[in-house]
Amino acid sequence: MNAAIVGAGILGKLLAWSLQRAGWQITLIDAGKTQNCSQAAAGLLTPVAELEKNSSLIYQLGIKALQDHWPAILAELPENIYFQNKGSILLSHIRDQAEIQHFMDLVTHKTDVTVRYEALNQKTLTTLEPELTHFQKGYYFPDEGLLDNQTLLSVLEKILETRVTFLKNTEVTAIAPHQITFNNKIHTFDWVFDCRGLGAKSQFSDLRGIRGELIWVYAPDVHITRPIRFMHPRYRLYLAPRVDHIYLLGASEVEAEDYSAISVRSTLELLTALYCLHPKFAEARIIKTTTHCRPTLAHHLPKIKYTQGLMAINGLYRHGFLIAPTLIHDILRYFSVEKPPLHYPTLWEETCYDHSSIE
Ligand SMILES: Cc1cc2nc3c(=O)[nH]c(=O)nc-3n(C[C@H](O)[C@H](O)[C@H](O)COP(=O)(O)OP(=O)(O)OC[C@H]3O[C@@H](n4cnc5c(N)ncnc54)[C@H](O)[C@@H]3O)c2cc1C
Repeated sequence: MNAAIVGAGILGKLLAWSLQRAGWQITLIDAGKTQNCSQAAAGLLTPVAELEKNSSLIYQLGIKALQDHWPAILAELPENIYFQNKGSILLSHIRDQAEIQHFMDLVTHKTDVTVRYEALNQKTLTTLEPELTHFQKGYYFPDEGLLDNQTLLSVLEKILETRVTFLKNTEVTAIAPHQITFNNKIHTFDWVFDCRGLGAKSQFSDLRGIRGELIWVYAPDVHITRPIRFMHPRYRLYLAPRVDHIYLLGASEVEAEDYSAISVRSTLELLTALYCLHPKFAEARIIKTTTHCRPTLAHHLPKIKYTQGLMAINGLYRHGFLIAPTLIHDILRYFSVEKPPLHYPTLWEETCYDHSSIE
């Protein structure tokens, strides 16, 4: 079968890679006007954190990706991508313990999942992260991790350039079952996959952007290895350690589709929290800041809308890297000749389109 995949964020790229390996002929098209949301992400794979805001579905999709799909995908790639699944740590100041307690109540009291965690004292915390010496209490979540998503995207891009027809800087102006329009021409395929993120508002009437801001720092004096979540009554800091003392620090969540540069408030809050987490961050160097908007649907859940010849996948919100491999695994099941039942039927919605073009 042949397919057009519109949008080359994590979803479009991973889908192109997976379908090509399953024998499909793929044309991948991206408008490439600005950096995409995927390029802006921190690469955290933190399913437990998603239980705070969501039903257990995102947790289940995420655990599957973290434990099965990502290790299998990364083993197939020709270059090493930094990936670790040795857990994350939750901390707060002693005066903000109520914040932690609230978080723990939300994530551990779901009836349909059992979250693995361990309460930490100063001694057990410093066994995991020896430099975090001034916290008395915390929690360790062994089933969380992270991935260098920027390197992953560029490795996938290099592979796809050789295996699929990859049209960059090409805007698709209309999408319909079996058809897309670009360069003023209609092109026909067996299937069209709409992976346009926030570019797909015509397919998803409830799609909106939630702004996120991130700061990259270089801190040669700091040796933290696991993702850290640091709770505060007004903001949440997460720290995503990368190799060579690079740390990503994020991320605000603002209900606005605003791509402007990072605000003074977010910068102050994030950097203050960073300094409180570890005083040696005082001498860190700020490498860059990034802002982007997360494609978000109602209830912060993803959706796969489909009809014969067209499938639109969207709503990856703040967990695109966490859940994309599991979504794609279900999509491959849909197309498999044996037609096994879908693992996550609640994500799927059959849709009727009239056959006029949908912008
Ligand atoms: C600051 C920040 C931090 C984040 N951190 C994390 C994290 O730690 N972990 C995690 O799992 N997730 C994280 N996310 C969320 C994650 O980045 C998103 O869920 C994910 O990138 C969405 O991927 P996507 O492929 O659906 O969309 P995108 O990456 O936005 O890709 C859509 C693509 O479609 C293209 N396109 C749009 N319209 C057209 C058109 N008409 N024609 C052709 N091409 C078109 C665009 O150019 C774009 O390349 C973060 C997001 C932000 C903003």
